[in-house]
Amino acid sequence: MAAMNRLLRASFSSYLRRMSTVAPEAGVRFPPGMAAPKMGPGQRRDPRERGVQWVFLGCPGVGKGTYASRLSHLLGVPHIATGDLVREELSSSGPLAQQLSAIVNQGHLVSDEIIIDLLSKRLQNGVAKGETGFILDGFPRTIRQAEILEGVTDIELVINLKLREDVLLEKCLGRRICSQCGGNFNVASIDIKGENGRPGIYMAPLLPPPNCASKLITRSDDTEEVVKERLRIYNEMSQPVEEFYRSRGKLLEFELPGGIPESWPKLLQALNLEDHDDKQSAAA
Ligand SMILES: [Zn+2]
Repeated sequence: MAAMNRLLRASFSSYLRRMSTVAPEAGVRFPPGMAAPKMGPGQRRDPRERGVQWVFLGCPGVGKGTYASRLSHLLGVPHIATGDLVREELSSSGPLAQQLSAIVNQGHLVSDEIIIDLLSKRLQNGVAKGETGFILDGFPRTIRQAEILEGVTDIELVINLKLREDVLLEKCLGRRICSQCGGNFNVASIDIKGENGRPGIYMAPLLPPPNCASKLITRSDDTEEVVKERLRIYNEMSQPVEEFYRSRGKLLEFELPGGIPESWPKLLQALNLEDHDDKQSAAA
């Protein structure tokens, strides 16, 4: 195990040598009350001067990819989703493609070693293209991955996206795909009034255009039983990872207050990035 960890760390090494020359200090403003390591007052700088090194956590269906992707555009850093890396490798003739397809076809989880191999290649290619910083999505998934990542780079902030479980379930069960054009829609219309000090929540459905409406299908694994099992497995796996970052003062819990129109401004606020969005909107 120790030898393997050394090997994995080594595979990040050239990436880190490059990054350490361009990323000498943290340059992001942290949410109030959060530990901001290696950063004192007066050192706050525009995150776009040097990319952030953030991680997104969140259960399947919460919309993690959407928010990670929006933030990556806003901050000018790549959104690196390990699921995409696996899919890209599978569709390529890369050295791991055969091994990967065997694993995936047997329904097994892709090992830490393969994920880290793909991720370190992706980061190195990015550095070669002049990228700085990243937003990781889908990694780390386990404590071991978190430890390896900690050994090689400085993760500044981990954003844990959460959504009430009853709402999440309804959203997952509302997913529909157009059997003709492959478009993704959601027929769930969520409008829960606040009660007993608990805030209400509103999420508009994402309805299909008329020519897709009669062709909607539900994915066979979007049943209540399967969705609940997926959440149970996710929670079991993610809790130790959340705890890992919580104990280091790096975990930002963010409870989604609704759909994208309700959540996006609040997320920016939580990240002290509101002014960035204003600038972007003004420039657009
Ligand atoms: Zn369609």
